Amino acid sequence: MVRRWLQQWRARREAAAVQRRAIPDDLWKRTLVRYPFLCRSDQASAAELRRLTSLFLDRKEFSAVGGLRLQDAMVVAIAAQAVLPVLRLGLDLYDGFVGIVVTPEEVRAPRSITDDHGIVHEFEDELHGESVPGGPIMLSWRHVRGIDVAAEQAAYNVVIHEFAHVIDMTNGQLDGMPHLPPSLNAAEWHATMDREFEGFVRRVDAEEPTVIDPYGAEAPEEFFGVACEAFFVEPWRTRDEHPDLYGLFVRYFQQNPAAERPPAKGRRT
Ligand SMILES: [Zn+2]
Repeated sequence: MVRRWLQQWRARREAAAVQRRAIPDDLWKRTLVRYPFLCRSDQASAAELRRLTSLFLDRKEFSAVGGLRLQDAMVVAIAAQAVLPVLRLGLDLYDGFVGIVVTPEEVRAPRSITDDHGIVHEFEDELHGESVPGGPIMLSWRHVRGIDVAAEQAAYNVVIHEFAHVIDMTNGQLDGMPHLPPSLNAAEWHATMDREFEGFVRRVDAEEPTVIDPYGAEAPEEFFGVACEAFFVEPWRTRDEHPDLYGLFVRYFQQNPAAERPPAKGRRT
């Protein structure tokens, strides 16, 4: 009885939030045109993406720095792309943070590493985005829009990348493995992902072109991040190049992006 009441209360509260944050038709259409990988062929999934995007906007706080002015089109574009990976898993996976900071361009962060000879190397990292436990998530608007992204190379999507890290951290650590549902166990996950990662590193070392961003060779957690980008943005090439990884992601995300629409010839998104 209490449970049913709670469910109804939650549903009413969500419906009110969706109404409060309703996305106008023309803005939603423009978002789907600009980011076509968001399109879902069945009506129910398409409606759920839009509903969760409104809920996301209601639960999260966007802010801009560096003279950037937030516009509705920007926050909707970011929210919709953030929601895509959790379309079937639910927004609760993002409960660990509230803030999203949008910068006009990449952020330069001073770094230093000490090599095997004890020599400290100082350098600057160029961050297109960053996610830290508890938030906020940082995103460069220039890179959300995909400006400067080389056309013929690997899949690229900074929003999906950073939110893949948030999903990864649902098991308590950033290690390339999210909290798994009962239908998937850790041994199965590792059997596929470890093998895929090793094969990928070999291909990157050999300078072979790959649909997954070579940056993924840095570490298993980065491999998970860039593999998620490829899975959602270039699903057909990902399925061809990494059938086992693709199959594992279909089971985890409960989505089959390659079945959504045919690959667009000569166009990259
Ligand atoms: Zn990353």
